[in-house]
Amino acid sequence: MARPPFPKHLRQFQAQFASEEACQDYLALCRWPDGFSCRRCGHRRAYAIVKRRCWQCAACRHQVYLTAGTVLHNTRIPLTFWFWAIYLMTTDKRGISALLLQRQLGLRRYETAWMMLHKLRRAMVNAAREPLHGEVEIDDTWIGGTQAGLRGSRQLKGRRAALVLVAVEKRGKASGRVRMGVIPDFKTTTLKAFIKQNVTPGSTIYTDGLKSFAGLEESGYHHIARTQPLRTELRKGTKSVVPLADRAIGNLQQWLIGTYHGVSRAQLQIYLDEFVFRHNRRKLPMAAFQTLLGLGTGREPTPYDLIRGARDVQ
Ligand SMILES: [Zn+2]
Repeated sequence: MARPPFPKHLRQFQAQFASEEACQDYLALCRWPDGFSCRRCGHRRAYAIVKRRCWQCAACRHQVYLTAGTVLHNTRIPLTFWFWAIYLMTTDKRGISALLLQRQLGLRRYETAWMMLHKLRRAMVNAAREPLHGEVEIDDTWIGGTQAGLRGSRQLKGRRAALVLVAVEKRGKASGRVRMGVIPDFKTTTLKAFIKQNVTPGSTIYTDGLKSFAGLEESGYHHIARTQPLRTELRKGTKSVVPLADRAIGNLQQWLIGTYHGVSRAQLQIYLDEFVFRHNRRKLPMAAFQTLLGLGTGREPTPYDLIRGARDVQ
């Protein structure tokens, strides 16, 4: 998909997306990178009907809602607010809370900010996912409770710790993409299910010596298991057998503490998805922005039927 210019900083953003019209122009540019073309009659000219957030074909009057297929659909909140929220969400490394968003946008109701963030998180979860491949490190960790090493007042008091499995692509010494999932137990079948879903067969998988990782060869992976040095030795500088996975886990824990002050076990997977989304697009703010808008995944414009199905939009 063609990428219209993306603002490099806040002032540019403010200038580029200052009005409802400007936001709609951006959506149109994403939808028709080579210029408008009517789906019904092929005509190349259209009028913008800003109030209805749609473009109308100049020949056959066919209308296309600019927000169809995006998270902005079915919402009365001004597009400028949405664009701000997405910008803040994708450019702030840690993400923002509903309270902060409410203040930043000057929203009257907290619920509005909460709902916006909720929708955006859902777009993060639904982001298209190709399985990891090549060399992949996998490790497990506890999140919450004392096991995770979250000490002091921010510890998740009274909440049971959750088991999380982390997979990281090795790109030389650097991390590629990551995947994270809450798992119920350490059973071989549980770990295998996660790996099958998140790693392409034929990949090489590095793990510690945990017995539950046994049997990966039969599932079509090259498996390199090594005994992880003791925690005390790791602290003294002995190299981990899964250094990239360790780093990802450390970053995740810092992020959970810093941004959300801990999350409940029930919500954890949603936050893991957000962390993964951020990590995997950390060098691509524009791609992140478009994905959250709902524009990044489909190359084709949304089919007419889907658009027509959303007649309730005003
Ligand atoms: Zn037409």
